[in-house]
Amino acid sequence: NDMIVAKDINKIYPNGCHALKNVSATVSRGEVVVIVGPSGSGKSTFLRTLNQLETISSGSIHIDGTDMYAKDTNINTLREEVGMVFQNFNLFPHKTALGNVMLAPLKVAKRNKQQAEDEAKALLLKVGLADRMNNYPSHLSGGQQQRVAIARALAMQPNIMLFDEPTSALDPEMVGEVLDVMKGLAKDGMTMVVVTHEMGFAREVADRVLFMEDGELLVEASPDEFFDKP
Ligand code: ADP
Ligand code: ADP
Repeated sequence: NDMIVAKDINKIYPNGCHALKNVSATVSRGEVVVIVGPSGSGKSTFLRTLNQLETISSGSIHIDGTDMYAKDTNINTLREEVGMVFQNFNLFPHKTALGNVMLAPLKVAKRNKQQAEDEAKALLLKVGLADRMNNYPSHLSGGQQQRVAIARALAMQPNIMLFDEPTSALDPEMVGEVLDVMKGLAKDGMTMVVVTHEMGFAREVADRVLFMEDGELLVEASPDEFFDKP
């Protein structure tokens, strides 16, 4: 079934920049979609419309069957369904890895402390950081920080994960450990939309590749079609 249905979306920023032009795309449950395209083509804007970090100017977005802009839609509930990982980790510096992962379940989802802690520990184990749980972000490498950020997003038990250039701020030797965690998620059947310049990942993991340019979605293809076209 369809987890994301974006129809004819336009995004015009207050400064007049027309960042998305009639973009339509559908993502099925368990599918991994990779978005590529030059800088400034609207990739990040598109991702951010999918969890309402940006509103759209026209069009419609359905998440798991719910119309994001319907009057009776609880936008906070919908947001919890969609986890997001950013280029720059965005961890809270005064909280440990464990504290960062526990925060949202405690504050937003109102889980009790023991339950939040148990879940957070399990997630940190899953991303390979069982031995770094009590470290502050400043005592973690970039790759470790990004894995904490992934665990933090997963702590809300989302059905969809969005990744906005998750490895672009990392030293090359740390890219692999983050991509491996993402590959594991894909294997587990997570629905994922990934903006990345890592073409190896796109080739290997994507079910579909979308190419954007100047606010338009120009190509939608399987990795084989996309990368092997003459
Ligand atoms: P990409 O992720 O492909 O690099 P973006 O979605 O970041 O592209 O940007 C698409 C276009 O929208 C660019 O021209 C950019 O300058 C513009 N843009 C992005 N964010 C804003 C904003 N907050 N206000 C105005 N224009 C923006
Ligand atoms: P990305 O391509 O990864 O989104 P950018 O450097 O384009 O990175 O944008 C960084 C931040 O600046 C974003 O929050 C974006 O919304 C904002 N931004 C980008 N372009 C503009 C713009 N022309 N006017 C205002 N804000 C912008």
